[in-house]
This record gives sequence, C-alpha cells and structure tokens, in this order.
Amino acid sequence: MSKPSYAEVYRAFRWTEALGALGWDATSDVNLGHTIVDRHPPDRVALHWIGKAGAGARYSFGDLARLSNRFANVLRAHGISRGDRVAGYLPRIPETVIAMLGTWKAGAIWVPVFTGFSGEAIEFRVRHSGAKVLCTHWEYRARIPRAAAGRAKVVTVAASDGTGVDHDDLSFWPATNAQAEIFVPARCRREEPAVLLYTSGSTGPPKGVKIATNFLVAVYPYMRYAVDLRPDDVFWPTGDPGWGYGLVCYMGAMALGVAVISQEAQPVPEFCLSLLSARDVSNFATTPTVLRGIMALGQDAVGRSPVRVRCVNSVGEPLNAEVVHFFRRVWDVTPMDQYGASEVGLPIGNFNALDMVVKPGSMGLVVPGFEMAVVDEAGTALGPDEVGHVALRPSAEGYYSLGYWEDPERTRETYRTWITIGDLARRDADGYFWFEGRADDVIKSAGYRIGPFEIESTILRHPAVAEAAVVGKPDPLRGQIVKAYVVLRPSVVPRSGLEEEIVDLVRTELGRHLAPREVEVVDQLPKTETGKIQRFLLRTR
Ligand code: ATP
Ligand code: MG
Repeated sequence: MSKPSYAEVYRAFRWTEALGALGWDATSDVNLGHTIVDRHPPDRVALHWIGKAGAGARYSFGDLARLSNRFANVLRAHGISRGDRVAGYLPRIPETVIAMLGTWKAGAIWVPVFTGFSGEAIEFRVRHSGAKVLCTHWEYRARIPRAAAGRAKVVTVAASDGTGVDHDDLSFWPATNAQAEIFVPARCRREEPAVLLYTSGSTGPPKGVKIATNFLVAVYPYMRYAVDLRPDDVFWPTGDPGWGYGLVCYMGAMALGVAVISQEAQPVPEFCLSLLSARDVSNFATTPTVLRGIMALGQDAVGRSPVRVRCVNSVGEPLNAEVVHFFRRVWDVTPMDQYGASEVGLPIGNFNALDMVVKPGSMGLVVPGFEMAVVDEAGTALGPDEVGHVALRPSAEGYYSLGYWEDPERTRETYRTWITIGDLARRDADGYFWFEGRADDVIKSAGYRIGPFEIESTILRHPAVAEAAVVGKPDPLRGQIVKAYVVLRPSVVPRSGLEEEIVDLVRTELGRHLAPREVEVVDQLPKTETGKIQRFLLRTR
C-alpha cells in the first residue's frame, strides 16, 4: 500500500483528528488516566513487563484501570487533591505506570525523578516541586535524603519478602490493595498541568517544565505519522517513562490502545539486540546513544541477529548520518531522526507513515499540526540555509507545555511569538531542518562559529571510534580551539598515530579550520541519565 504524501497530510491535518482519536472534544474537561486506560477493552494487553533476572508480567487495560483507581484512592486518603504534586523516583516497573495513572485520576501533577539521581538531585526536585508524596522502590529507598523524605510522604514498593520499606513509609501494595477499586476521575481542563518535567540538564541546572494535560493531543500527530504506531505493532520504547520521550511513548501508545514493552534492565546494546529478536519487535523508539552502541557491535554481529523491525525512531540528540547508513545496510530499515524537547514536545521529524525523502543527518520536516521556523535573535524568520534558533509558534490547540514552574521571568523570555530554547539549526530549501548544535555548545575559534555535530559525525566515520564529543577549549590566541574527546570501539586498542588520523579525516572531509587541534581518548563521555552527551562538563575539564 502506498503511503500518503507528506505535503498532503501536512496541509490537510486538523486537530479534530487528534481529539477524535482520544475521544475528546474541543471544550469538555478530561482525565488523562481515564483516557489512557479506562476506555479500552479491559482484556486487551496494555503492558508487557520484562523484569530483571527473568521476572515478567502482563497487564491488561482492565488491570491498569483498576489498580490506578486503587492508587488514586491511596492518594486521596493522604490528602492529595487537584494540582498537588506527586513525585516518582522509580525504575521501569509496572508500579511506575500505575502510580502515574493514579496521580492523574486524582487530578494531581506527576513529577518524574530519574533513578540515576541521588542525594541533592532528588532533594532539589522534591523541594522545588513541593511534592507531597514521593513514590519509590526498595532498591532506591536508601538514596533518598532524609530532608526529601521529611517533606513528602514516601510510598515504597517493597522487596518480594516485604522488606525495604522505612517505618514511616507506606508500603505500595498493601496500601493499594486496601483501597476500593472504584474511583471517579477528576475532571481537568486541557490547559491544566499534568506533569512537571525537569529538563535533562545537558546545558546546566535542570528547569521544571509544566506539561499540559493537552500533551496527549500534541503528541498524537507524532505517534501517528512519525512513529507510525499501528494496532498490531509490537512496540518497544527503551526510554524511561520518567523522562519526556519515554513518557510520551508509553502514554501516547496506550492512549491509542496499543501495548508497550517495558524492560527493567538498562538498554545496553547486546540486551537490545536479543530483546528485539526474542520479542519480534516491529516498532522501536530509542535514542542515538542506543543506536550508536548497537552499531559499535559491528556489522557482522548486528547483521546476523534475526531482528525484523519495521520502524526505528530516534529522539534526544542528533542522529549521525553514519548511523542511518549502517542500519540501512544491516537491517534494511531507515532510522528516523526526530526532534523533541521538554518545552516543545515533538514538532520535527522523519515520518515512517508518510511518503517523503529521508536526508540522512537531517532532523526532517515539521510534524503535521505545527508551525516551525528558524529565527534570528530578534525572532525574525530566516531564509533557507541561514543558521538561527529552532522556533515553534505556540499553538492554541496542539500545545504541549505551559512554561517553567514558578519561574515567570524565564517563561516570558522563552514563550514569545516563537518559543526558542537554545537549539541552533538551518532549514534547507526543501524545508528540512539540520541541527547545528546547542547555542551553548557552539565553538568560537579564530573568528569562526563552529557547530560540534558535523565534526563529531565525521570523526564517527573513523573505524576505531565508537563515540565522539567536540567542544571549545579556551585558547589565548584563538579564543577557543576545537578539542575532540573520543571513545574507541570495544575491540580497539589505543595506538600511536590514531589522533593524527582523526585530525586528518576532519581536515580532508570538512576543512582545515574545523579540524581538532587536540584529540583525547577517554573511556567514556559524561552523559545525562537519558544518555545525552554533557558537553558543558567537558568544557569545564
Ligand atoms: P537542559 O535544557 O536542561 O540543558 P535538555 O535540553 O537536554 O537539557 P530536554 O528537554 O530533555 O533537556 O532535551 C531536549 C533537547 O535535546 C533539545 O532541545 C535538543 O537540544 C536535543 N535534541 C532532542 N532531539 C534532538 C534531535 N533529533 N537532534 C538534535 N538535538 C536533539
Ligand atoms: Mg533544553
């Protein structure tokens, strides 16, 4: 069956399509928990959970509907009402999904806290959000500082023998099972916040973004046309539902009645390969870090594995053209680079469901329903191939976020005629967006403005290299020099002359002024919990 053309779908798209798919109308109040699980056939599978050490379970929509009702009753019994914050410091386990849905049913705001955090990072988010309840898991309980536990009621998922719960805590399952299975979901306005999402902290301290209840509307065209999610898909989003992309994939899929595979273990490359084939995954939503990791296993190993994915989606960082070529070669599938951020949702992408030309290295085209541009500092739209800020025109219907939590000043600065968040790109004459780098990551060397992405992608073509990060290093003469940090492939041993080869490669492919003046081989790159390279930490080394 031939795919509809991108241009046609972009032109014809109306937000009523998204509302209709969710069973919403333009004006009535809604409830996210109800929309995501209650309205589907109760026997249909919603969640395939794959635990560590061989554990696993299957939850139907009916199971999640009942359990989230019970959990909403737990929250109500502890005084949680509309607009209150409930934090989740939880791994990828079914309880995470149940707690989120229950929080929304109670009309409260979910605050995801990544499990990679400890100490002050947890305390900051609990304090800053004013969370009244903090849900966690016994394995993580000891990392919660006393101050954070003092601010919020802690609800802990106990170990299988019932231990691991502090004496002041509520134990998740006994508390949940003690409550009634019936709960009348709160009726919320679409412009009420549903999630308080802290940004990844790639460029500095994280910011709390208020995600609207309407986010489900805003991500519909992405799920439908970019991910191309179908009712019979075996869908595996590797991301944690505790960060933006994971949350969108889990909730966006279940809202459309499609089951999600959720794995507790970290998505390391070997594990990904085996799960993709063992489960016959047809639709894979992941990050460039995961795809580069799989690529580093080598063409033979990856090509041999019996993987049959139809769609591969990549969000969170630029996807190097080399990675796209690799998966075309080994699996005959084109990984689709898609762009998203806490503030704007997912408004740019390459589309599995639409007829379009993929230009490897490009983030693609504007998602139907959105208006995007590249603008200068003054907010004026720029012409083809001019570099400026990626900008989203706020939408009256398809909006995703509502500004920063208790930070009206930053909100005013960011949410203007166009929303810009420090991402630089150019748009070619065909309308494709090409990521240049974050404004903070741009290197200013001897009068040139240099984006790290193109250099990193070129370095990645060297057969010894698994990963690369390029930053500006202060230099008395040039202001900054280009410095490259590289991680070698697992099988490669460092040898003399490698640095020179890398410099030569960039000089030949891109030009003398872009060639790194320094190359340093490192064991790993500093990354956020979600796998994003933190170039600001490399700059301050
Ligand atoms: P912080 O704002 O705290 O520095 P962050 O911007 O990484 O962290 P998120 O909102 O989680 O926090 O991530 C969104 C950012 O990730 C985007 O603004 C962009 O810089 C980057 N990004 C996401 N997808 C892509 C992509 N396909 N290509 C290039 N960059 C991307
Ligand atoms: Mg950001």
